[in-house]
Amino acid sequence: MNDTSRPDGPDANLPIDTEEATRLEALRALSLLGTPPSAGFDRIVETARDLFGAAAAYVSLIEGEREWRKALVGDVAREARRCDGFCRHTIRSDAVLVVEDALDDPRFASLPIVREGYRFYAGAPLVVDGARLGALAVLDRAPRGLGATDRTLLVELAKAVVDEIERGRGRDASTLQPSRFTPERRFQALAAVNACVVWRAAASGEITEAALSGPFAARATADLLGLAWLDLVHPADRRRLFRRGLGARRRGASFEETLRLSDGEGRWRWTQLRVVPLVREDGTLAEWIGKCMDVHERMLAEDAGRREAERLRLALAAGRMSTWEYDPETRAIVRDAASEAILGVPRDDLEAALERIHPEDRPFLDAAYAPGGPCCIDAVRYRHPDGRWMWLSTRAQEMRDADGRRRVVGVTFDITERKEAEERAWRAANRDSLTGLENRAAFQRSLARALSCARATAGRVSILLVDVDDFKDVNDAAGHDAGDALLREVAARLARVTGSGPHLARLGGDEFAVLIEGHAEVGESLGLAQAIEAGFRAPFMHGGRSLACRASIGVACFPDHADDAQELMMSADLALFSAKEQGRGRAAVYRPALRAAVEARVALVGEIRAALGGDAIEPHYQPKIDLATGAVTGFEALARWRHPVRGLITPGAFADAFENAEIALAIGERMARAVSADLAAWLGQGFDPGTVAINLSAAEFGRADLPDVLFAALDEAGVPRWRLGVEVTETVFLGKRAEAVAATLARFARAGMRIALDDFGTGYASLTHLKQFPVDDIKIDRSFVRDLERDPGDAAIVAAVIGLGRAFGLRVVAEGVETGGQEERLRGMGCDEGQGFRFGKPMPASRVPMFLREHGAASASAGAGRVLAVG
Ligand code: C2E
Ligand code: CA
Ligand code: CA
Repeated sequence: MNDTSRPDGPDANLPIDTEEATRLEALRALSLLGTPPSAGFDRIVETARDLFGAAAAYVSLIEGEREWRKALVGDVAREARRCDGFCRHTIRSDAVLVVEDALDDPRFASLPIVREGYRFYAGAPLVVDGARLGALAVLDRAPRGLGATDRTLLVELAKAVVDEIERGRGRDASTLQPSRFTPERRFQALAAVNACVVWRAAASGEITEAALSGPFAARATADLLGLAWLDLVHPADRRRLFRRGLGARRRGASFEETLRLSDGEGRWRWTQLRVVPLVREDGTLAEWIGKCMDVHERMLAEDAGRREAERLRLALAAGRMSTWEYDPETRAIVRDAASEAILGVPRDDLEAALERIHPEDRPFLDAAYAPGGPCCIDAVRYRHPDGRWMWLSTRAQEMRDADGRRRVVGVTFDITERKEAEERAWRAANRDSLTGLENRAAFQRSLARALSCARATAGRVSILLVDVDDFKDVNDAAGHDAGDALLREVAARLARVTGSGPHLARLGGDEFAVLIEGHAEVGESLGLAQAIEAGFRAPFMHGGRSLACRASIGVACFPDHADDAQELMMSADLALFSAKEQGRGRAAVYRPALRAAVEARVALVGEIRAALGGDAIEPHYQPKIDLATGAVTGFEALARWRHPVRGLITPGAFADAFENAEIALAIGERMARAVSADLAAWLGQGFDPGTVAINLSAAEFGRADLPDVLFAALDEAGVPRWRLGVEVTETVFLGKRAEAVAATLARFARAGMRIALDDFGTGYASLTHLKQFPVDDIKIDRSFVRDLERDPGDAAIVAAVIGLGRAFGLRVVAEGVETGGQEERLRGMGCDEGQGFRFGKPMPASRVPMFLREHGAASASAGAGRVLAVG
C-alpha cells in the first residue's frame, strides 16, 4: 500500500517516459482535462468524503507537471504543481497509498497542502486501460489510520470513478449505472474483510444487492433481496433511522447511526451503519449504499462500563462519598460530580474547600499528608456554605500516573450522620437528658480520673453533693413539668455559680454533684457550697408561680476525708445528711463523727420499735411567749426518747423512724395520750398551761380516724378539746390526700383546736393554703430567725410573713428565738409570739408547773385559757 520504490526527487523535472506518454494519451483521448465539473464525479467524491468521514476528497488527474482536481469537496485548491501533491506517489502503484501522518514522513512534511493543515491522506489510483491517470483521494486534518475495509471501499470508489470516466467516452453520464458501480464480487470481498454487511438498495429501500459475513454470514444473501433495508433493523431503532434517512435523502448527505441489526438467527447485534444516498443530477434519489461494521462486543463492553460507572456513581452518592484526584505539583484538584452536592463548592476549587474546614482541624490535614504514602484523615469539621457543620473523613493514596507524574487519589466521605449518632449515643451514655449535665456514670468516671490525677500531683479533689430540699413536694403539688423546670433551673444556677471549672452532674432525682479539682482547701470548697446555697434563695419561677426551694449541701474532700472514690462519695453523703439534719438550706463539711452518728442512728431505728410498747417516748414542752406582754400563751410538745443507756434522745436522731408509717402512728398516739394526761394533771393542780400543740406528721394524716384518736385521748383524760393544738407543715397539704387532710383539719377546727402552719417559708409556699385550710397560726421557720439580724433577705421574709399573717387575721409565731436582739427585732416588726431557747428549752412535764409559776401565769379558772391564748 505504500509508495513504490522508485526514487523521485521532490523538485525533479520528471522525464516524460513511456508511462507518462501513455497517461497523456489516455487523458486526451478521454477529453477529461479542462472540462467543466461533472455531477457524476462530484457525487463520488462526496460519497468518499462521507463514507470515510474525511475533511476533503478529490479526483485528481496528473498531466505533466500539473495535478488537476477534476472533482473536489473540501478546502483544497483546484490545481497544484505535480510536485506539491500526494498523487504523483499514488500513481506509482495499483495499491492504495495511505499516509497516516504527513508530518512524520519527510516526503510530505513540507508539502503546501500539509502546511495548510492536512495530515492524513489516502489515495487509490485511477487505472483506465492500464494507464494510471490520477487518484481518488480522501484527506483529513487529523492523523488517522485506514482499516482494511475502508481501503477496499476506497478502491471500489476509485473503480466507480473509472466507470464514470469510461462512461464519459461517448455515453450519456446523467445516471449512475448501479450494476456497474458495484459488481457483486466486489461486495463479497468488501464484506469478507471486516465482519460486516454491505448492501445496495433502490430508492424505495428495497435491497438489490448485499454481502454478509462474520456474525451475519448465517443469512443467505438471496434472502435479503427484495426486503426493505429498514426491515433488518431492530424495531426500536427503525424510527430513528427512518427519520435520519429522510434527512439524508433531502440533503443528499450521508449519515452514521449505531443500531441493532438482525443476524438472521433471531439475535440482534450492535452495528455501526453508514448510509450514503446516491442522488442524481436532477436531485432524485438513485439508490442507497449501506455499510455496517459490527460493533457488538465494543457496545456491550461500553454498556457494561457505563453501567459500572453508573453503579459506582449511585453507590458513591448513597454513601455520601466524593472521589477526587490531586496534583501535588500544581495543587490542582479534580473532584467527581457528587462532590458539589456534598461540599457545596466548585469541583475544582481546592482553596474554597480548605477554607471551610474548622481551624482547629486544619493541623490534622497537614499532618495526614506525607508524600508518597497513604493518607487517612478520620474526622474533620467542615462548614457547608448553607451554614451547617458537617464531619468529613478522607482516605487517599499517592500514586504515579502513566506519565510517571505524582497524583493523590482519594475518597472523601460525609460522616456527619454517623458522627451525630455517635454523639447521641455518647450523650445518652454520659449525659443527663433533662439538664445536659454529666450523669452518674460519667461523674463516677470523672471522679476516678480526677483522683488518679490528684494522687499523681499531690492535689485535692472535693465533691459537693447538692440536694434540693422538699423537691418531692414541688413535684407532687405543681406537677412534673414544674419539677423538671425546677431541676433545669437548679442546673443553670449551679453552672452560674461554679463557672466553667468544676464538673457538674445530676446523680439522679433531685441530687446534684460538683467536682472540684486542683488544690482547693476544704474551706474554699465550703465557700463555694455556701455560694451555691445562697444562689437558691432567689425564688424559682414557674408558670407565673414562685416556688420556694432551698438546697442542702454536703462537702467532702480527698485526701482529707477519704482515700478513694467510694469513700469520698460516702463522706459527702454523710455531710449532706448532717446538713439536712441541722435544718434545710445549709452546707456542711464531713466530720469523722458523722459516720459514727449515722451508724448509731441506724441502730436506733431498730431499737425504737421495741421501745414503743412502754413509756420510752415522752413529750417535752417548750413554751410560747406573747412578745407584747411576755405572757405564756401555751407550749409545743416535742417527742423525746428516753434511752436506757444513752439517755434522752431528740427527734433528729430518730427522724428516720417517722418515715416508717407504722412507727410514726404509734409515736403520734403515744404523744397524744401523754400530752392529754399531762394537761389533765396541770389543770387538776390549778395551773393554766394555755394550749399545748402536738406535731402531726404526714403519715398520721394517712389514717382517717386521726381526730378520733386525739379526741379519745383528750376525752379519756377529761381535758377540753380546745386545750390541744396541732402543728402541721405545708407538705401535708400537698399531694393526692389534700382533700382528706382538709376534712380532718375541719374536724379539729370544729372542736375548737388551734391549727398552726409549721416551718413556714421553707416548703412550697402557696397563699391559697392559708385561705383553703382553717389555719390559726403561722410559725416562721427558725432558719429565717437565725440570721434575722445579719441577712436582709431573711429579715424581709420575716417581715413579709408577719404582714401576711396580719392580712389573713392569723397569729405569727417566730421559732428558734435565741437572743435578745432577735426578740427585739421581732417585737419591733410586730410578731405576735416567740418560741426558742431565749424563753425556754423543751422541758419535761414535771418542770412545767414551776415554769408557769415563775412566769406568773394565773391559776386556771373556767374558760380563761382561751382568753389567755389570744393574749
Ligand atoms: P419543730 O416542730 O420545728 O420543732 C422545733 C424544733 O426547734 C425542736 O427541735 C426544738 O427543740 C428546736 N428549738 C426550739 N427552740 C430553739 C432554739 O432557740 N434554737 C434551736 N437551735 N432550736 C430550737 P426538736 O425537739 O429536735 O424537734 C425537731 C423536729 O422533730 C420538730 O421540729 C418536729 O418537726 C419534729 N417532732 C418533734 N416531736 C414530734 C412529734 O411528736 N411528732 C412529730 N410528728 N414530729 C415531731
Ligand atoms: Ca413544731
Ligand atoms: Ca417548726
